[in-house]
Amino acid sequence: MDRRWGPIVFGVALVLTFGVLVVLGTAGAPDRPARAEEEPVAQGKAVPPNWMRKLRPGEKPPQFVLFSFDGAGSHDHWQRVLPIADKVNAHVTGFLSGLYLLPDSLRGTYHGPGHGAGRASISFGGTDAEVTTRVADLNSALAAGHEIGTHFNGHFCAGNEPSGGHWSRADWTSELDQFFDIVRGAATRGLKVPEDEIRGGRIPCLEGDPAAFLPVMAGRGMTYDTSLTSDGIAWPAQKDGVWEFWVPVVKVPALGNKKVTMQDYKLWYAMNGAREEPARDAEFTAATLDTYRAAYQAAYNTNRAPLTVGNHFNDWSGGAFSRATEQFMNEVCVRANTVCATYSDVLAWMKLQDPAVLDPFRNKPHAQVS
Ligand SMILES: [Zn+2]
Repeated sequence: MDRRWGPIVFGVALVLTFGVLVVLGTAGAPDRPARAEEEPVAQGKAVPPNWMRKLRPGEKPPQFVLFSFDGAGSHDHWQRVLPIADKVNAHVTGFLSGLYLLPDSLRGTYHGPGHGAGRASISFGGTDAEVTTRVADLNSALAAGHEIGTHFNGHFCAGNEPSGGHWSRADWTSELDQFFDIVRGAATRGLKVPEDEIRGGRIPCLEGDPAAFLPVMAGRGMTYDTSLTSDGIAWPAQKDGVWEFWVPVVKVPALGNKKVTMQDYKLWYAMNGAREEPARDAEFTAATLDTYRAAYQAAYNTNRAPLTVGNHFNDWSGGAFSRATEQFMNEVCVRANTVCATYSDVLAWMKLQDPAVLDPFRNKPHAQVS
């Protein structure tokens, strides 16, 4: 939760989190088995893209847009996102909930910190066949140049105590160790996502003490996190041993410029308290799309800070938010001076830069929707 908002928001966050739990709990794993998309064979890592180079003095950074999907276990959503990404030359990041790779038959092997064996706020992986489908999806995504990170396992948010917001460093260590245990276990089912290619993540509900979880991620050799919020769109900064890619808090034009954390669920909550209200689905899609467009334009016109678009693979409000994200990906990734890339891609690009060229942009005020 955003600590700068203080206790007023805490109550809202509690309500909001209950909403997430209800949605996740009742929706279950939305995945259905089917064959994975064919992947273009030669795409990806062999030839660096033309934007992966040092900026010339005075040159503006490309506008990076980081599409990321929490959960990353929905076959239907991968089936939709992968072809769009391929068409518009985007690379995206899936933050995997480890439990989606743990079949129900093995649920007892997971011990969420402070919780009983086999307990979680989200579904486990279902049948062996469902896990196999997910393994194929993740393999396809990685082979196509997308990135896989962690969304940890049990998705324990405020109200389901002890939740991530109260976990200690030891708790986060246990949670992350178990995530990697599950990933290693899935290798025997054909998962081809090497542990050392899982370089970052996002904590569930954005709830956790950074002083507790960031050092744990750094201690595992992870290089980035994208769980903390920033007022406006800001450049990634080093924090407790990892690079923090901030989830921006931006003005939402459709809500009279009220500021909201730019994430699907938080937008939905701000729009109608996160209730299914089918008559308004199209309105929510439009409002979300307008928010993304305004945030992009704000960054593009000023500090060029990478824009994090944080979503889940959920069909909330009739899929209103997924549709907005997919449409935004379709339109923004093909724009001039714009690159839709993974977190690790952007970090690699940042490492190439001369600080004297990049600092004038990093030092600008955070980009704000006007
Ligand atoms: Zn989540």
